[in-house]
Amino acid sequence: MADAVEPAGPPDVGQGVGHWVLHVDLDQFLAAVEVLRRPELAGLPVVVGGDGDPTKRGVVSTASYEARAHGVGSGMPLRIAARKCPEAVFLPVDRPAYDAASAEVMATLRALEWDGHPVVVEVLGWDEAFVAAAARPADATTGAATRGASYIGRGRPWAGADDAHGLTPVVEAGQGSLPPVIPEGKGALGGSRPGPGSPTDPRVFAALIRERVLEATQLHCSVGIGDNKLRAKIATEFGKPRGSFVLTAQNWSEVIGERPTRALWGVGSKTARKLAALGIETVDQLARSDVRVLAAELGPTMGPWYHRLGRGAGDSVVSGEPYVPRAHGRETTFQTDLEDWVEVAAEVRALTERVKADIDAEGRSAARVGLKLRYRPFSTVTRSLTLPEPTTDLATLQTAAVSLLERVEQDRAVRLLGVRLEMVPPPGGY
Ligand SMILES: [Mg+2]
Repeated sequence: MADAVEPAGPPDVGQGVGHWVLHVDLDQFLAAVEVLRRPELAGLPVVVGGDGDPTKRGVVSTASYEARAHGVGSGMPLRIAARKCPEAVFLPVDRPAYDAASAEVMATLRALEWDGHPVVVEVLGWDEAFVAAAARPADATTGAATRGASYIGRGRPWAGADDAHGLTPVVEAGQGSLPPVIPEGKGALGGSRPGPGSPTDPRVFAALIRERVLEATQLHCSVGIGDNKLRAKIATEFGKPRGSFVLTAQNWSEVIGERPTRALWGVGSKTARKLAALGIETVDQLARSDVRVLAAELGPTMGPWYHRLGRGAGDSVVSGEPYVPRAHGRETTFQTDLEDWVEVAAEVRALTERVKADIDAEGRSAARVGLKLRYRPFSTVTRSLTLPEPTTDLATLQTAAVSLLERVEQDRAVRLLGVRLEMVPPPGGY
């Protein structure tokens, strides 16, 4: 079954609510929050990043759609953004404001009900979360699900495995080869007959999500609808802005088969290059590739994993458990490059002290130490080591972090340093 051709055609939305994972992503989140408190910026190119001064160093955190139209994108140095769009309004990053807006969005999502089911919300970041239906309160006593976890993917033979759903394709308008934007639709919750337009229709619920988030926060979001997390996450990009999109086993190949492998969540430029060296450029080519070759070239674990990714397979378990960080890190971009490596070592020690305070706040020890170093003009290297034993001792952590400097070339000026401490798992694991 693993390599069977998926049934083609538009996605069948006549499934029960337990079939679906939704991915909610705020549109141009940071810029949108800024525009809310400065309405005069609406419609203007807005760039949020660093301390808001494009003559200084720093990178773009979020650009408004108006700025994106000029080629400004996240991660771009502010100075380049200013060159591409000189008329843009540059604003400093204001974390407390985004934390507050994010908390409001997540609270709104958690308060939703889908056809009588409470929902589970798995926060992925400031501006994105997976949402799925949990068992109805009445069902919980039957042991169908535990509180705080979606029943999607639980107790099903195909959970996290290949998509052997055996869906019956239902032909229906609105989901062609072009990414459709589903119009606003209001669905009265309460009924439960599956079918297009009914309360179980994920597009109806997606519209409700966008409506409620907008009401509560004045922020617009897009909603990806998938039969697993991977497809939901990718679907969001097709729904943007202010829309939703359905991506399932049925339309996977049709929608993204021709796209480069980089379109997949989990494939970065490094992996894309490795795949290209094997003659695999597109998602379809990855899906049809020989899993043995992938295993031989990319490793016995990662090879098959990428193969499944190409077919859009992935897990569907949405967990409402609070997020437990695996690591803490801090980094600094210097306004003037550091040329003196004694000074570089001193900065590494100072950063380590700040990160140690972060892990102390969680009461956990560090097990691994990582160093990030960016040379002038912009090339970045990372190094890391596992400590002989987990520790919270500052001097030991500083010595370990500084020792990583011996593993980089000390022949160029440094514009950025970062230190990361990976912690031991909490009792009971992640
Ligand atoms: Mg977003």
